[in-house]
Amino acid sequence: MTSEAVVTQVVVIGGGQAGLAAGYYLRRAKLDFVILDARTEPGGAWPHGWNSLRLFSPARHSSLPGWPMPAFREGYPPAQHVVEYLTAYEKRYELPIHRPVRVRSVRRDPDGLRVETDLGDWTAGAVISATGTWWRPFIPTIPGTFTGRQLHTVEYRGPEQFAGQRVVVVGGGNSGAQIAADLAEHVDLTWCTARPPRYLPDEIDGKALFDIATTKPGGIGHLGDIVAVPPVRLARDAGLLTARPVFDRFDGQDVVWSDGTREPADTVIWCTGFRPALGHLSPLGLRAPDGLIPTTGTRAVGEPRLHLLGYGNWTGAASATLIGVGRTAKAAVTEIAADLS
Ligand code: FAD
Repeated sequence: MTSEAVVTQVVVIGGGQAGLAAGYYLRRAKLDFVILDARTEPGGAWPHGWNSLRLFSPARHSSLPGWPMPAFREGYPPAQHVVEYLTAYEKRYELPIHRPVRVRSVRRDPDGLRVETDLGDWTAGAVISATGTWWRPFIPTIPGTFTGRQLHTVEYRGPEQFAGQRVVVVGGGNSGAQIAADLAEHVDLTWCTARPPRYLPDEIDGKALFDIATTKPGGIGHLGDIVAVPPVRLARDAGLLTARPVFDRFDGQDVVWSDGTREPADTVIWCTGFRPALGHLSPLGLRAPDGLIPTTGTRAVGEPRLHLLGYGNWTGAASATLIGVGRTAKAAVTEIAADLS
């Protein structure tokens, strides 16, 4: 690590879709900036999903600012199409991405905010943190000991490795429903959800979700949790997706429910969500008891030079989607440009 820090106006931490959208607007604002990304390859979280993962909206409704996602020939695009788009996007706008560079911490410094990395330090007048959630999978604590295998959504690739097994999928959101549907014909499936699965009306896709999220303050919670993408719809309509409550404890090879019923399982797949990857911001002491950092728009309440982008609705309506993050990125960069002028 060098002791001298490179000085720039803005450091963006994370080169996924949120970091790229920020880069687009920083370029337009003619600010001096760098994007630091821990991965060796472009695409943020998208190269790491399961093999059959597809967007829940058509390409034309999954675009970052400036350049629309190229059409996909058939149905909703697979994750690889998004990776190719993001790879081309960062080249097209010549975004100054340094890869792989892992940010260890952000601290206050007499010259601004100091961003400490495994490849030296930067100081900046503003920092945009856009590190996503994929890197902090969440698994609830369950009492007892399980002798089978446990994994999280982030480790699931496809049904092949589980063929013929007794598999318990936990989670009533989109990942849980999609992975349960992916497995249904290949394994002895038990699907556990905290409450009965709530499917959104079949005609609601990512575009409709975006419209609702950005026009109705209450969001979509009242409508349902699961987008009925074609594979989920097919499995549901074939009667393959019957859910039961989440079990209470493990006992050796079994999962055990509160009423004493039990089932043996080879594998439990936790589709129980993510937490924002905010560890690098710990030295700033900004976290509230719920683990999140209070914001006004994207700006951290306790550190106005820090913006949080892309983590979910708490950092901008629909900001954790391809179609939604551009709007929030524009607002963040507008505020930063005004501060630095
Ligand atoms: P990421 O893509 O996670 O990018 C963050 C980047 O930051 C990564 O490259 C990471 O390496 C880097 N990073 C992290 N920590 C550090 C650090 N300390 N230092 C340096 N770099 C760091 N959205 C849609 O619009 N349509 C969909 O159909 C859709 N489907 C989804 C399906 C699933 C299963 C999931 C999980 C999400 C889906 N989303 C969808 C939501 C959303 O588009 C993604 O979560 C998206 O990847 C978030 O982008 P991001 O840039 O915020 O984070």
